[in-house]
Amino acid sequence: TTWTKERIMADAKENNVKFIRLMFTDILGTIKNVEIPLSQLSKALDNNMTFDGSSIEGFVRIEESDMYLVPDLQTWLIFDWNIASDDTKRIARLICDVETSSRELFSGDPRSNLKRVLEEMEELGFSDFYLGPEAEFFLFKLDEEGNPTMTLNDHGGYFDLAPTDLAENCRRDIVLELEALGFEIEASHHEVADGQHEIDWKYADAVTACDNIQTFKLIVKTVARRHHLHATFMPKPLFGINGSGMHFNMSLFTESGNSFYDESTRSGLSKTAKHFIAGLMEYSPAFTAVCNPTVNSYKRLVPGYEAPVYVAWSEKNRSPLIRIPAARGNSTRVELRSVDPSANPYLALATILSAGLKGIREELEAPAPVDCNIYSMTARERLDQGITSLPGSLQEAILELKASDPILDALGPHISTSFIKAKTKEYEEYAKYVSPWEIEQYFTNY
Ligand code: GLU
Ligand code: MG
Ligand code: MG
Repeated sequence: TTWTKERIMADAKENNVKFIRLMFTDILGTIKNVEIPLSQLSKALDNNMTFDGSSIEGFVRIEESDMYLVPDLQTWLIFDWNIASDDTKRIARLICDVETSSRELFSGDPRSNLKRVLEEMEELGFSDFYLGPEAEFFLFKLDEEGNPTMTLNDHGGYFDLAPTDLAENCRRDIVLELEALGFEIEASHHEVADGQHEIDWKYADAVTACDNIQTFKLIVKTVARRHHLHATFMPKPLFGINGSGMHFNMSLFTESGNSFYDESTRSGLSKTAKHFIAGLMEYSPAFTAVCNPTVNSYKRLVPGYEAPVYVAWSEKNRSPLIRIPAARGNSTRVELRSVDPSANPYLALATILSAGLKGIREELEAPAPVDCNIYSMTARERLDQGITSLPGSLQEAILELKASDPILDALGPHISTSFIKAKTKEYEEYAKYVSPWEIEQYFTNY
């Protein structure tokens, strides 16, 4: 269905929808929502809902705090769960773009910003950019009071089918809930680490895929709670085992098909794909702050845990930053393995797409693929092959971002300024903190 105002009004009535969440995402990636009763839906659909933007991190200054929420009608969705035990008080949602009081698209809105970058893509002659994310997460137990603990829920392993996998019921419920919301689930499995899971769903166009990531996180957390579990998308909750990534599988289409595929080459990859890969590699140090935006993100990007550390690409291996999955034809895609689920998907994708487009525009040459395990190479061997590293901390990543005009442009001046300010503060607070590790190392030794 193509949703119109009339269709949505009728659907709401028919399905006993009593509340509508008008959702958008702030710069830090947090889902915000303004909940309205059914009586306000008509007004909301006429784009007349205002809210006070000054309370939102990185949004506006006090003097222009009135902002409009402009619902994207195609995101109309009735949640499957009820707020009451009966079926008469259902909740729906609409994802919104944000406009300023003078009715312009707000430059601090991550979703609108991604649309702006997509326009640049169209100017280069491409029609669609598709994203299939692979979001990993952990399930921890809640205590008696319902507060999250650090106790893992299970001790399963990759693809384990142990009957003791308590999380399996929870994961199935998540999948059912997602399917009820229209997600096409392709796979759901236990990940390598204890308590770690992954659910993969069908790729979609850039904006829809990012909307889906936000919806996915909400559903996972909500359903986990129902099972008395806490779901976390924190990149590295536990030392010594794998962290959680959110690999981005991407392809760039023209009207005539997948521009990454070329049947006449040995690898099946087109020149466009190679330039895109080269662009990703060139700008990866700069977009890392956006794709790995927390202090904790850098505890994941270390050798030995299937997360990337080195800037390289491969057709086989899982250790580099970029992998090319085996599928060809219209399924040919580039998998960027650095992104983690603490990233704001709209901002991450805007910077990654810009980097790739820059590679295409400037015909950057990708180096030869590295098909051996980079983790086991010596520093010398890496140097000889020109393999560099991703930033090692949030601080380093912010410096790289600040020095890269193309990636700052991909965020626009409003978002980049707010983002850098918030992240610098976050890093400075962390740097001053005295951690348990330090006490353990130094307290009795000195
Ligand atoms: N959990 C790994 C990461 O941190 C990825 C494992 C996988 O290849 O799926 O990215
Ligand atoms: Mg995985
Ligand atoms: Mg993957």
